[in-house]
Amino acid sequence: VKVEKDCRSVLRLSERYRAASLSVGLVPTMGALHAGHLSLIACARGECDRVVVSIFVNPTQFSPGEDLASYPRPLEADLEACRRSGVDLVFCGAAADLYPEGFQTWVNLEDLTKPLCGEHRPGHFRGVATVVTQLLSVVKPQRAYFGKKDYQQCLVVERLVRDLHIDTEVRLVETVREPDGLAMSSRNAFLGAKERQAAARLYRALMAARDAIEGGEDSVEKLVACMRRELVPGDDLHLDYAEARDAETLAAFADGRLPRRGNHVLLAVAARLGGVRLIDNIVVKV
Ligand code: AMP
Repeated sequence: VKVEKDCRSVLRLSERYRAASLSVGLVPTMGALHAGHLSLIACARGECDRVVVSIFVNPTQFSPGEDLASYPRPLEADLEACRRSGVDLVFCGAAADLYPEGFQTWVNLEDLTKPLCGEHRPGHFRGVATVVTQLLSVVKPQRAYFGKKDYQQCLVVERLVRDLHIDTEVRLVETVREPDGLAMSSRNAFLGAKERQAAARLYRALMAARDAIEGGEDSVEKLVACMRRELVPGDDLHLDYAEARDAETLAAFADGRLPRRGNHVLLAVAARLGGVRLIDNIVVKV
């Protein structure tokens, strides 16, 4: 596996791939690779001639007081995982290269970034949208792969690719879970035994609300209450949000009722467990 650190070299390589008519799939990550990342890589491997994985803990998507400094960076293990998964190029961007002296160009989305994680992590999606735009302009992939675990991020990326006429197909991949339903995340490694056990409540909350919808419940308030019953705050869990929203726009349901017209409803939760912030979601067709 080839490893490149600077944007110029990656630009040159991507030009070479293009000249040779080789399709490129990009999997953007922050490293500490787990089975969720590997599932994205496997999708890219199945659909593209060359697979590029970027590993960059993007400082601009962390708010002050978040875990930027302590975020895991096991580079050697990540490179080995990439090697084993048939990745062709690992792009380990450096902050000084992506955000050089004098940097001042940001990508901002309006409505999609206001609710949910946008509300709880000010500036987060500005950082995400900006770095994803940079990675897409450097790698110029035919396809880029994102996990539905970060559902709002998926919508943000799809929207910015459309709005900026970026010639990349955005591919969304199902969430990979632990046997008890906990969504895989690089942050799970930081959970203590007690918090790890409590972490399964996020998925249980989503399942409970899904069951309620399937049982005919259409009151948003009741669905939220149903999720909150699984997520009662205590020593081990602080709830950021539990919400039901339109899965395409993230808009709230104005009259407090789910529509019943083949719409898709996003059930999304975020909680902090002993200082570790976890998110999860599912989409339910109504
Ligand atoms: P991260 O390194 O956490 O920024 O994630 C990089 C990419 O992997 C993002 O597109 C995530 O949505 C995706 N991802 C993270 N966890 C999972 C998971 N459990 N299942 C599927 N994709 C995931």
